[in-house]
Amino acid sequence: MSITEKRFNTGNGPHLIKLLETAGKKMVFLTHLNPDGDALGSTLGLLNLFRKMKHECFVVSPNDYPEFLKWMPGSERILVLKHMRDTVLKIIREADIIFAIDFNELKRVKELKEAIDISPAFKILIDHHPDPVMNVDFMMSDTSVSSTAELVFQFIHNMGLKQWIDKEVATCLFTGIMTDTGCFSYNSSKRETWVTVAELLDYGINKDDIYSLVYDNYSEHRMHLLGYSLNCKMEVLPEFRTGYMVLSKNDLTQYHFEPGDSEGFVNYPLSIRGICFSALFTEKDNYVRVSFRSKGNFAVNDFSRMHFNGGGHKNAAGGEIYTSLEEAVAVFKALLPDYKTKLMENED
Ligand code: 5GP
Ligand code: MN
Repeated sequence: MSITEKRFNTGNGPHLIKLLETAGKKMVFLTHLNPDGDALGSTLGLLNLFRKMKHECFVVSPNDYPEFLKWMPGSERILVLKHMRDTVLKIIREADIIFAIDFNELKRVKELKEAIDISPAFKILIDHHPDPVMNVDFMMSDTSVSSTAELVFQFIHNMGLKQWIDKEVATCLFTGIMTDTGCFSYNSSKRETWVTVAELLDYGINKDDIYSLVYDNYSEHRMHLLGYSLNCKMEVLPEFRTGYMVLSKNDLTQYHFEPGDSEGFVNYPLSIRGICFSALFTEKDNYVRVSFRSKGNFAVNDFSRMHFNGGGHKNAAGGEIYTSLEEAVAVFKALLPDYKTKLMENED
């Protein structure tokens, strides 16, 4: 059994409900760096709902997001910090309400940290990662839910705003739940998740179309990169029940890499019999980005926090290390003997 933790700070709820009921509020929905389906589904779900209530809404993403998520309703109102810094900073300065969605620390929104820290806006955190460290006026943090999108659905319900959910809102929230559970293959054994999905279906969403828009929407380059990564860039270490892939800048250039193209790659080593720990190393300009996945009780968020300046969930985490690609992999491999007992005894 995994340990779950709920941290709710809803004392300001009545005040928040009044704020949300007064049309014309300026709202910003923040996603974390490299936003995924849950981050964008959750923020866009809220954006569509509050736009219907006549609020002025924008989603802010620190960097570009994958092509296969660009179809989502409301995505034309996503501002990418990297491309429009001044506009984003102005919108944050003027915001009445700032939502931090699907992340637990401001470090995850990079250069926006200071602007958010000094903003007098009412701040809300809705997230399912452990140990939130943010100063906010209202918090719903729950590691037991499938996804932040599921928690957003609860938030809408708790605020008495369910009558504003429509097909667009439901489509976004379903996308969040679907992508964060690997199409209901993990983090989805609780009744509440399926009840939420059943309710979302009632709004007339087409779940088959949504699946297809996300998973049958890759570029040809991405498929070639996947083939190359599995064939030439994957190392399997059965003695540590570990598999990993390493992608250099050169590999990425060769395969015309676009944001999101390596999404899901890190899961592949886990499909090998006996493997319960996997990593993906991606070379960036002056650092190496690392993704970790595991099965069972091996906590990759602890591993990432301790060795790769990162964090995340027990079975899915990320981090970064300011070394060369070769050194990053060497650091990782040198750590494995220390974890050998844990990995060999891990029940998955
Ligand atoms: P991914 O490997 O898909 O980038 O991230 C896996 C999970 O770990 C996601 O839930 C993501 O939010 C979280 N995560 C990724 N990188 C970091 C990081 O540097 N710090 C923290 N705290 N969480 C991260
Ligand atoms: Mn999530």
